[in-house]
Amino acid sequence: MPKPSAGEPATAGADPHQQPIAGLRGVGPAVAAKLAARGLVTLQDLWLHLPRQYEDRTRLVPIRALQPGVAAQVEGVVEAVERGFRYRPLLRVAIGDDSRATLVLRFFHFRSQQVNQFRVGARVRVYGTPRPGQHGLEIVHPSYRVMEDGEGGALGDALDPVYPAIEGVGPAALRRLVAQALDRLPPDDRLELLPPELLAQRGLPSLRDALLTLHRPPRDADLAALLAGTHPAQRRLALEELLAHHLSLRRQRIALQAHAAPVLDDDGGRVRQLLDALPFALTDAQRRVFDAIRADLAQPRPMLRLVQGDVGSGKTVVAAMAALLAIGGGRQAALMAPTELLAEQHLATLRGWLEPLGVRVAWLAGKVGGRARTAVLADAASGAAQLVVGTHALMQDGVVFRELALAIVDEQHRFGVHQRLALRDKGAAEGVVPHQLVMTATPIPRTLAMAAYADLDVSAIDELPPGRTPVQTVVLSAERRPELIERIRAACAEGRQAYWVCTLIDESDEVVAQAAQTTWEQLTAALPGLRVGFVHGRMKAGDKQATMLAFKRGEVDLLVATTVIEVGVDVPNASLMIIENAERLGLSQLHQLRGRVGRGSAASSCVLLYQAPLSQMARERLETMRQTSDGFVIAEKDLALRGPGELLGTRQTGLADFRIADLARDADLLPEVHRIGEALVHALPTVADRLVARWIGGAARYAAA
Ligand code: ADP
Ligand code: MG
Repeated sequence: MPKPSAGEPATAGADPHQQPIAGLRGVGPAVAAKLAARGLVTLQDLWLHLPRQYEDRTRLVPIRALQPGVAAQVEGVVEAVERGFRYRPLLRVAIGDDSRATLVLRFFHFRSQQVNQFRVGARVRVYGTPRPGQHGLEIVHPSYRVMEDGEGGALGDALDPVYPAIEGVGPAALRRLVAQALDRLPPDDRLELLPPELLAQRGLPSLRDALLTLHRPPRDADLAALLAGTHPAQRRLALEELLAHHLSLRRQRIALQAHAAPVLDDDGGRVRQLLDALPFALTDAQRRVFDAIRADLAQPRPMLRLVQGDVGSGKTVVAAMAALLAIGGGRQAALMAPTELLAEQHLATLRGWLEPLGVRVAWLAGKVGGRARTAVLADAASGAAQLVVGTHALMQDGVVFRELALAIVDEQHRFGVHQRLALRDKGAAEGVVPHQLVMTATPIPRTLAMAAYADLDVSAIDELPPGRTPVQTVVLSAERRPELIERIRAACAEGRQAYWVCTLIDESDEVVAQAAQTTWEQLTAALPGLRVGFVHGRMKAGDKQATMLAFKRGEVDLLVATTVIEVGVDVPNASLMIIENAERLGLSQLHQLRGRVGRGSAASSCVLLYQAPLSQMARERLETMRQTSDGFVIAEKDLALRGPGELLGTRQTGLADFRIADLARDADLLPEVHRIGEALVHALPTVADRLVARWIGGAARYAAA
């Protein structure tokens, strides 16, 4: 029999996994539709519909040995039956066994036929989770079977699977369907795509064995590992799934590289002029990242580069230099930011830097309407606007560029892949696509970045500009709030400024929180000598901007704000930040907020106020914040605490769509995945294609990336 490693598997094109579920017994159009609604269409979908739990019916537990909360199977003889109506029908059946203990089975809805089954003296086999009841342990609505007289009652040798429920298909029917599908599981030589020696080296089972183990674990299987998702059978599936995703991203990458992009190698001397005009010198990290971008842009292939840089690392100036390369060639660049506040700040910064160099910077946001809008659109279309800064509005229909050569997306994690692509498509014409530069201040753990961004080049600005002093972080109970008033007064007396961040805006919010409005009023009253400003997300954009500008100019001492200030706001003179209800925020968000201080040379501090009592997770988060200011450490911790979905935003990558793999749990497989992926595409390209088809589907979901 040919080994898959010896060449390509023989059955390409006729993969058994593609057979429809509709061919199984008991699957009519109605059931097929219910299954399809949950994405179960082919036999393979059923194979991969893994149990979420197992029931151990391979052994009998003596009633005396039952433990509350621990599911078990027991067998006993009916000792008493009580049927009553108190407020509702009730059936209680007491059973006993050789361990001379009694277990009560309790039913609230039942048929009289059921009552009749429970004759005193009948033998019953029961599975369920016992709880303490009025008369010792009881099980409510157990699954049970009244045994025939003289029946031996053999025990199974595999654990029973409990599948994730599917609406309209009962659990028993679902179990039968999966069992049928498993009966049609082909032998390994037709199913396996991974080279056997690769699996052997790592002590991993074949695909067939792994699936059988997971659906029907032998009675001695490591149940704890199965429930934790760390059993070798699960690791093996996770490895294959991650590999398939990796290969798919690689493929997109290659597809993207097949397009042409404008060569941007002439900045007309403007980068030099900008650097000469800046009040600071670039850090080595900024220089290194810009060099990489410059090299990319000089190629006739589209750049797709993610620049990661902690808050305050200076990504904006790197983006500005990249834009100058696009503009220098007579073309255009666009910069999109996720919030209006952030986009406006970029506009101000970039106008300040680039207009002196003769660059025309235009502004487009949702609120730009009427004649102003017509003018921006005309300038974008004619090319008169060399750099267009804006929000989501940039992606709308009707926005046309003469020749967009570089699309820059700031705070990429706030956008979805589709939005990034929508901006890119503004510049696509006749096989030529613009270069893309995406920037994020949410440091993504390396492992995760490798999985999520296999289609991007990643570079990191891993150094902060000199002269920044680390922010000292303290964690305080909200009871100590009054002490902070003094602290603010002292900071402002030295000419510094402070932020007070509230996590909620509306007093009527049910959660116990300091409403920002009230806080603002209280602080204004408590600090008579200070100018206290207030910004929140529901304000008119103009008012918000006016207050922010006043703060930036030093005309406001203390800024009370909701988390709208999270991204991008840059006021180096602010040296104190107080975050209320800090326990409610995730690590990345806290890190972002804290990054608003420590941007100047003054020693800065951040006070995290919490409302007691703290949950274990909240305690860990605050402790992490206190201990480190390293964005990457924080991101790793965040990943461990919360999982990747929230960290990346599920919209972004489809990472939440993994069937088996879990990036937090299986992150250690990723380096391996990369090595295997590399080897496969060269040695066994057809296998690579089939892996992608198996896990992601023939019509690649991200075909357009
Ligand atoms: P982020 O990476 O968070 O977007 P910014 O681009 O907003 O950071 O930069 C933060 C602040 O640091 C800005 O005031 C910016 O002008 C300043 N800055 C950037 N690069 C340097 C540098 N090399 N030296 C000193 N200050 C810098
Ligand atoms: Mg920024």
